Amino acid sequence: MKKIIFLGPPGSGKGIVSQRVAPTIKAQHISIGELFRQNLKEQSEIGLKAKEFMEKGELVPDEIVIEMLKQRIEKEDCKKGFILDGFPRTIPQAQSLHKLIEIDVAVHMNVTEEVIIIRNATRVSCKDCGQIYNLRTSSPKKQGICDNCQGQVIRRKDDEPEVMRNRLKVYQDQTYPLIDFYKDKGVLAEVFCDKIEQTPEETFQQVMEAINKFLEEK
Ligand code: AMP
Repeated sequence: MKKIIFLGPPGSGKGIVSQRVAPTIKAQHISIGELFRQNLKEQSEIGLKAKEFMEKGELVPDEIVIEMLKQRIEKEDCKKGFILDGFPRTIPQAQSLHKLIEIDVAVHMNVTEEVIIIRNATRVSCKDCGQIYNLRTSSPKKQGICDNCQGQVIRRKDDEPEVMRNRLKVYQDQTYPLIDFYKDKGVLAEVFCDKIEQTPEETFQQVMEAINKFLEEK
């Protein structure tokens, strides 16, 4: 049973890549941001609590996220392993996760802010299933329509430049310290994916290589 987390700034490609890595290693993919967006669509209590933070590009308070994560990884579909995309994002979240399970690999997607801002300008995703696309490197086959579920492909509100700048700042302040946390635990796998024209396929190959190398050496 593999338990893998993806660390990296918003727009680093961790969503698009981890969505592909999960079926390859037969693990369940869990995107915390997507869980919140689904909750918001359903107007659930959690969704409504998260809304104001998400709209500003702030993190949702730890106690809400941790509780939601705990419930999610207890489900049957996680029994064979899972990939967490977007969790943990703070030291308290990492400490709580550490009390629940032992992580096998923490993949760190190294991308500079400059490259993120360029890539982000063309990032879109499906309103219904959350599948991510990039209009420069990985467009949906039919313009505006999701390949997976035929849902509408749109630009996320929190990908607008102003909110994105705040999300990057929040990443630096609150999530970046996790790199050392996982380095100290000996589970950090570094991936350098900073070429602007790099395709999701190339990044996927790099990430799989890093994960396999890491697991072999372990
Ligand atoms: P994402 O789709 O991963 O970029 O997440 C979108 C938004 O969901 C973030 O900007 C946060 O507001 C919220 N969010 C996602 N993951 C977390 C987390 N681990 N802790 C707190 N807030 C989160």
